[in-house]
Amino acid sequence: MTRNGDVHSLRRSRLGLNFAVMSIFSSPLLVAAVVLTTPLSAMSVTTAVEVTPFADIPNVTVVSYDVAGRNPAAIRRSIDAERPTDPNDRIRVDGLSHYEFHWRWHRNGEGTCAAAPEDVLFSATVTAPRLMDDDASPKLHEQFDRYLHSLLVHEDGHIRYAWNHRGDIAAAINAATCATADTAARAAVRAIAEHDIAYDKATRHGTSTILPFG
Ligand SMILES: [Zn+2]
Repeated sequence: MTRNGDVHSLRRSRLGLNFAVMSIFSSPLLVAAVVLTTPLSAMSVTTAVEVTPFADIPNVTVVSYDVAGRNPAAIRRSIDAERPTDPNDRIRVDGLSHYEFHWRWHRNGEGTCAAAPEDVLFSATVTAPRLMDDDASPKLHEQFDRYLHSLLVHEDGHIRYAWNHRGDIAAAINAATCATADTAARAAVRAIAEHDIAYDKATRHGTSTILPFG
């Protein structure tokens, strides 16, 4: 943030094609934000998944929903009962990724507006099941962990694409005028979000790579 510059930030859900501006403050500080639609109540933030495929990407949190059962079929029933709904197509899925970009730009002396790479902030959550049943055998836990890993690899495909394209947002701002910078940034985010839909279509929500469980 520069002292006299305009600063915009925006939270964006990965499906969030419908933006809701929560608050706008007049210059010099302008803030726009988006209401999140992912139902996170009744879920807990956990670090139980110790090694994730996206461990190298900063600000990614695993949000677990608890499942239980003493055999794969029982655990599958538990997953089916608790799992989230993908807001893009209303399909219930074992895992769900959600990311947000916040951005801002600086107005310089020549009346142009610019964003540096560090002006785009990224954060994400990955919702995934956590096997709670202590009575489940070690073998069952191992089977669950293999399934969970393959699920997280699919989610990594969502998260990593967005992370790798974060520079598109600053580039869009830098190619725009001060008046169109925010619109350009939103368009860049929408283009990134199109990958999520295409990726889920191509992989049938990961069915082609996620190990079947239960
Ligand atoms: Zn997916």
